[in-house]
Amino acid sequence: MKFSTSSVVAIAALAGSAAAFAPSAQSLNRITSSLSMSTEVAEESKKRVTKKEKRLQFMKTETFHRRGFKDVREGVEKSMEEQFKSQLVDELTSNDFVLERDGVKVFLAKDFGFCWGVERSIALAYEAVEHFPGKTVHITNELIHNPEVNDKLHDMDVQFIEKLGEGKKDFSNVNDGDVVILPAFGASFEEMSMMNDKNVDIIDTTCPWVSKVWNTVDQHQKKGLTSVIHGKYAHEETVATISFCEDYICVKDMKEAEMVVDYILNGGDKEAFLKYFENAVSKDFDPDTMLDKVGLANQTTMYKKETRAIGQMMQKAMMKKFGPVDAKDHYWEFDTICDATQERQDAIHELVEKSDDLGLDFILVVGGWDSSNTAHLLEIPQKAGVRSFHINKSDCIGADNTITHRTMAGEIVTEKFIEDWGKDVVMGVTSGASTPDKAVQDSLSSIFLLKKVHAGED
Ligand code: SF4
Repeated sequence: MKFSTSSVVAIAALAGSAAAFAPSAQSLNRITSSLSMSTEVAEESKKRVTKKEKRLQFMKTETFHRRGFKDVREGVEKSMEEQFKSQLVDELTSNDFVLERDGVKVFLAKDFGFCWGVERSIALAYEAVEHFPGKTVHITNELIHNPEVNDKLHDMDVQFIEKLGEGKKDFSNVNDGDVVILPAFGASFEEMSMMNDKNVDIIDTTCPWVSKVWNTVDQHQKKGLTSVIHGKYAHEETVATISFCEDYICVKDMKEAEMVVDYILNGGDKEAFLKYFENAVSKDFDPDTMLDKVGLANQTTMYKKETRAIGQMMQKAMMKKFGPVDAKDHYWEFDTICDATQERQDAIHELVEKSDDLGLDFILVVGGWDSSNTAHLLEIPQKAGVRSFHINKSDCIGADNTITHRTMAGEIVTEKFIEDWGKDVVMGVTSGASTPDKAVQDSLSSIFLLKKVHAGED
């Protein structure tokens, strides 16, 4: 429930001047109920501050770790290098992002692969395992959306908290003295709170870009705004973000954002609106009262152009509804797309724009199938009509000249891969922010081998 400071002040002033006139029973009721609402506002605001402060309090405790462990750092750096580095990718970058081998010409996007947030998260998790030998180490979710990294954590005997469905998890195996890792995209306030109540060491690997979004939605609340979050409501990062919100609605794309804008401007069938967004709104969400003042935030890995377009659409709607002067009191925006996401999107854009000149047969996008930022990288060539595939590891390239890939619609399909063996294969390649260079190397090596085996065929 939202009230502007001015309405609370006006109510107080009205109550203070009560002696100057004799109010009717009806207006007295209204004043009483308004005053009780202003008490509610104060309570609400107290609760909000407490929620944010609690998170900061958790972070100050001795068992909350965010900076890693120096005693094991050198060893972890070495093992990460062995696990993730790629000689082939290094060769590509030092050769102006182009390489020819076995009848395959490869153009690598100028920005690709691991972002610093992911590298930091992996380093913190690996260091925690080394620093607490003999302790049971749990993780509340996949550390990042990459199969090799999560397999490695399994190999290190890290226990993945079991998911029970409908967003619930089984924390019953977490015991006193254990260690709990929070992944790169964070954990919900409730999970943090629960872990804080247990006698465990918490390793917080949340990327600072993600906590920046939490700060943004916190600002929305302070300003009395409903957070419109451009993101997928079931994605772990968005689940964590909404746990720090009071009033929110998640929109996953332009179509859903347009539905919200249409409701802001024209109202509509409230029941149908709430039915459509039933999993994507806060408890007791009322579109009639909660969409007049909104702030935009986003899942850090969304398609940046789309976030911008949604922001512009919201701003225009507020200008239309409240006039250009007052619109600023009804819409607030703070860019929370992370640089790494944007740079990788810009780089594949560049490849797509040059695809005709370079003669690209296709673009390969390497990254976990659950990885939102990788899926968005595929959208760019797909929307431009450039043949492109999103694979999650080298096994997706079959010796029988097939490729198993994830489409934009999220289906996993297998189809014929190389179409013409009579000429060199010319390809573009990129990888998501949670993809090690080693995965790109393995995928390229499979293509080199495939071409070598089929050389000379029609
Ligand atoms: S993609 Fe951005 S938000 Fe996600 S981990 Fe990397 S730097 Fe952080």
